[in-house]
Amino acid sequence: MDRRNFLINTGLAIGALVSPISISAADSPTRKTTRSGKLNLSFKPYELQLRHAFNLAKYSRTATPGVQVQIEYDGIVGYGEASMPPYLGESVESVCNYLNSLDLSQFNTPFCLEELHEYMDALAPNDRAAKASVDIAMHDLVGKIMGQPWYKIWGLNPDKAPDTCFTIGIDKADVVRKKVDEAAPYNMLKVKMGLDNDKELVEIIREKTDRPIVVDANQGWDDREKALDMCHWLNERGCLFVEQPMPKEKIDDTAWLRERSPLPLIADEFLQRLPDVRRAHGVYDGINIKLMKTTGLHEAYKMATLARALDMKILLGCMTETSCGISAASQLSPLVDWADLDGNLLIANDCFDGVKIVNGKVEIPRDRPGIGAIPLV
Ligand code: MG
Repeated sequence: MDRRNFLINTGLAIGALVSPISISAADSPTRKTTRSGKLNLSFKPYELQLRHAFNLAKYSRTATPGVQVQIEYDGIVGYGEASMPPYLGESVESVCNYLNSLDLSQFNTPFCLEELHEYMDALAPNDRAAKASVDIAMHDLVGKIMGQPWYKIWGLNPDKAPDTCFTIGIDKADVVRKKVDEAAPYNMLKVKMGLDNDKELVEIIREKTDRPIVVDANQGWDDREKALDMCHWLNERGCLFVEQPMPKEKIDDTAWLRERSPLPLIADEFLQRLPDVRRAHGVYDGINIKLMKTTGLHEAYKMATLARALDMKILLGCMTETSCGISAASQLSPLVDWADLDGNLLIANDCFDGVKIVNGKVEIPRDRPGIGAIPLV
């Protein structure tokens, strides 16, 4: 079955297919005279095309499925998105099914984020990217109604936004050298590891630059002694931290490694939502917060606050996303130690304008209300 027939047969994304979403027309934060007092949700699939094949320790891909979401209220439109890397178990079908199951008519105001999340979690336990798409659109809507960006609503100083890193994936030596050249504007390089040629990759980078690197092993180091050797080796080569060094199930081995590692260990695959922050405490030194894992900004803010209270480090990450999701995440960035917000730079068909990287730092769109993203089409 092709995608159109699939969508028609399953009744998914009817609004998108019968009357395509007019993303640009409804972007004015000015209220129209007609006030329905209702939250109107619409959505459409949008495949994100990658500039380079994305090679991780366990798989490779050239595109990421996504779903673009709008919530309209009294003529004001909030934008959100879901991004579904295949290893997380969500798909265009599952996200559209979840969004079709939502009934927002019970909420007669967008100022209902806590209740909205209780309702979404009660409806289904997982579907995190689907929930994030609604959460991001709702934050955008609320911020536009208030006329303020979220970093201001949270009382954060945009001057404290951190450096962001640029990802150098596992690849052939000449491709790695080219990617290091592309990464010239960035103050930190992120290196994906977990294969046999890990050291070779770092040595190629070190031939070209002495900028700090951060390492994501993507659960690729099975043996704790080998992982410890790598942490020492990387520490001698200007590495700042190691993300998810060992398989997420190896909790005791990771705690063993943490006691001995000269580098902080950051949880990524180990951690999804708020209760996981406590589970990570004592096993990892910090957490990687990604909106597609946390069900959006509402819980991401709570996780960042809890991590701070537990004296843990925070990395703000992302999936492959457009500037919609990345701009939403950027609103939180003054709260974190490091950012890894390059998901929008890795795609060839970004359909939003938003957060920029200036001198290697996250530059939050300061004068735009909501999440700070404006649709381009
Ligand atoms: Mg990671």
